[in-house]
Amino acid sequence: MNDEDKKESDITIKLLLIGNAFVGKTLIVQKFIDNTFSKSTVSTIGVDLQSKIIDINGKKVKYLIWDTAGEDRMKTMTYAYYRGCHVILIVYDVTIRKSFENVTTWVECVDKFAKTNVLRILVGNKTDLENERQITKEEGKKLADENGLKFYEISAKTVTGLMEMFEDIAKEYVQIYEQKAIKNFQLKNSNQTKTKRKCC
Ligand code: GDP
Ligand code: MG
Repeated sequence: MNDEDKKESDITIKLLLIGNAFVGKTLIVQKFIDNTFSKSTVSTIGVDLQSKIIDINGKKVKYLIWDTAGEDRMKTMTYAYYRGCHVILIVYDVTIRKSFENVTTWVECVDKFAKTNVLRILVGNKTDLENERQITKEEGKKLADENGLKFYEISAKTVTGLMEMFEDIAKEYVQIYEQKAIKNFQLKNSNQTKTKRKCC
């Protein structure tokens, strides 16, 4: 991160989207960034980076978002990005059972390549296609609970639940970030006190 980035935001959240091809990862990012819907999005080649700053309780929170391509031949080159992330969204399409079944494979990838304290989120996308739905909300929630993931259902097309999801994740991350900062501060202070005592 350069000095310019540091100045424009208080906290940076590095977020990665993974999941099968065509579940809507690229549209989720597009809608979050500029709120537009295009019917056919160009398949992502490898990894794409975008950013957006949002306000959370008076703090400027910068999202850095890496959007990956779900094609198998692209998968291996995206693993390198898992490690540096604070948040990973595993996305499936609520109308395609295969994309839901593959979630466990994606979770395994997260276990293998991401940091243990990464915030893991399961996202069921395309809720606007209610008539074509194959996976119920309850089923999604159950899988999320079993794997220790937070769970959201959204529609990137209608933006239903989308902005709220990104705000919610940012709030949670800011909380964790601030608790960590307080702990570090207390630890630093107690170390200083200990050192002082030693001197006297
Ligand atoms: P990716 O391969 O996961 O990045 O998927 P894309 O973002 O390219 O989306 C694949 C297709 O699904 C595109 O035609 C999108 O317009 C469409 N799509 C994405 N999200 C939604 C949604 O919430 N509802 C509907 N109906 N279509 C969506
Ligand atoms: Mg894409």
